[in-house]
Amino acid sequence: MSYLFESFKGWKQYCESADVSLVQSVIEYEVDQKDSSEEKIMTGLQHAYTVMKEAVKTGLEDEMTSRSGMINNGAKKVYNHPLAVLSPEFQKLISRALAAKEVNSCMGRVVAAPTAGASGILPGTMVTLQEIHGLPDSKILEGLLIGAGIALIIEEKASLAGAVGGCQAETGSAAAMAAGAIVYALEGTVDQIFNAVAITIQCMLGLVCDPVAGLVEVPCVVRNASAAAIAFSSAQIALANVNAVIPVDECIEAMGEIGSSMESRYKETAMGGLAATLTGQEIANRVLIQDIEILPDESLPE
Ligand code: SF4
Repeated sequence: MSYLFESFKGWKQYCESADVSLVQSVIEYEVDQKDSSEEKIMTGLQHAYTVMKEAVKTGLEDEMTSRSGMINNGAKKVYNHPLAVLSPEFQKLISRALAAKEVNSCMGRVVAAPTAGASGILPGTMVTLQEIHGLPDSKILEGLLIGAGIALIIEEKASLAGAVGGCQAETGSAAAMAAGAIVYALEGTVDQIFNAVAITIQCMLGLVCDPVAGLVEVPCVVRNASAAAIAFSSAQIALANVNAVIPVDECIEAMGEIGSSMESRYKETAMGGLAATLTGQEIANRVLIQDIEILPDESLPE
């Protein structure tokens, strides 16, 4: 019987008592749940990572303008800008996270990890991590398995959906998955991996879901970039053994508590926050008119 990912404390205890690694415990779970084999799970994961890499490439090379016009080739502009504000690596990280998410906003193919709204964070962080540290694909795939275990626990204790827990649940969870994967891939301990998750969640708590015009474009795309940066800052802090103080399970419980007390206008309804601004409302009206204009004539009222 595999571990059912109810808590981080339980995950660690299970691995210690069953003498399996974190990665192996996720593979056991996947094999059990999908009635599959380790080989098939790893093949599927390799495919998912290939799609992530393709999304980064597509977003940096192809035309990326969304139908609303709110997304307009931002990733390429960042990637090609002559001034790197911090380092060329940071510039690449930000542009890659933007790129993969722009592909999603322009209806291209992405991996929803854990959701389409947060689909730029793992591609941006993993591709950049792999390049900087010269890691093989196998190490990145194991990191993604760690991320999967983290997501399973967040889903169990809080939520992964913006409509349930606000944007902290989507981009916050993806950032936590990425931070754990980064620490794992850089040979961090179990405690350091879990500490990276706790620090990331602490940084993302309370973030509302307020997509302009109800489209997963603004602020979603730029939040993928900031979440990717937070994943790296959390990993850097955790690898240095700086303690999050509040244990990771309690951080996730706080996320659940905040999500459940968040008003519905901040949960993907496009009725609050940025969506409710004057400009947000104007864009929503324009998008609605565009949609009516492209309806076939016979569907319009007489
Ligand atoms: S604002 Fe809402 S729709 Fe956009 S990424 Fe965050 S949770 Fe998803």
